[in-house]
Amino acid sequence: MKAAIFIEEYRIEVQEVPDPVIQQATDAIVRVVMACVCGSDLWYYRGIGEHPRGSIGHEFIGVVEEVGSSVVFLKKGDFVIAPFAFSDNTCPHCRAGFHTACVNGSFFGMGEKNDGGQAEFVRVPQADGTLVRVEGDDFSEAMLASFLTLSDVMSTGYHAAVSAGVKEGGVAAIVGDGAVGLSAVLSAKLLGAEQIIIISRHESRQRLARDWGATHIVEERGEAGVKVVKALTAGVGADAVMECVGTKEANEMAFAMARPGAVVGRVGVPHEVTINPNTTFYYNIGMRGGPAPARAYIPALLNDVIKGRINPGRVFDFVTDLDNIQEAYAVMDERRAIKSLIKIS
Ligand SMILES: [Zn+2]
Repeated sequence: MKAAIFIEEYRIEVQEVPDPVIQQATDAIVRVVMACVCGSDLWYYRGIGEHPRGSIGHEFIGVVEEVGSSVVFLKKGDFVIAPFAFSDNTCPHCRAGFHTACVNGSFFGMGEKNDGGQAEFVRVPQADGTLVRVEGDDFSEAMLASFLTLSDVMSTGYHAAVSAGVKEGGVAAIVGDGAVGLSAVLSAKLLGAEQIIIISRHESRQRLARDWGATHIVEERGEAGVKVVKALTAGVGADAVMECVGTKEANEMAFAMARPGAVVGRVGVPHEVTINPNTTFYYNIGMRGGPAPARAYIPALLNDVIKGRINPGRVFDFVTDLDNIQEAYAVMDERRAIKSLIKIS
């Protein structure tokens, strides 16, 4: 099969690799229909984060090709959404709703042999606990794109909103206008926030943010941006803040715009971030978040997609195929696109 292989920074190649095979009775093999590039893929693409040479990609949807002997909930031909982490869905952490901490789980696309979603086929460990079947088989391209976002980006934005405790009628603020930040806007709207403020300087992203429910766009960064958010909230600050970037600056901004008693929901992978315990202490500001338990959110969000309540697939503004995957990374790296979709089969 063909698979995207990370070679070194700014270099991804499509190579012919052996087809994955069932290794454990709990495995399934999925034929990938669509995959995409994650903002977190850009860290290693740019040479900032570590990644071994090898298989990449952790967001994909597809069709079950084969199942191991102990898989009971899935069969060949099922259309499935894969969360970016696999999990058994039965251990204490999964039962508590934190599937990304599963004792039998891990992440896709870690560079190991053929474990990435940017490929024609993927071996899915813990298939029963991981894959979410979608009933039916006749979906529009737009619907498929929305399904694909549940794999990571929409579930992660939703996790930011849930972690920050977005409430009906409240003020939600989002730091980051990438695909996750925009999905956090959509999630804040879904959870009933009345005032939704996003920090953004990019016109196309601002447009989508407004379409998805943002009431205020703040173009200023740092202290100046915090000042504007304070002014928009009568000096109080936001009830719920979502940090969707992961840099030091974004985190500082997020904590500074939180009102006393608020929680900052963090989903940006932190890079050289330190949280000052004193400033958070004196204002009773909390912190939650981490890798989104996408598996926990997919069934409900899938229902919202099917019912037409949300259309998170609009986040994709670049589409290509597996052979041109290098370009899918480049357009995101150069901020020429919000998020790249890769049609595979
Ligand atoms: Zn588990």
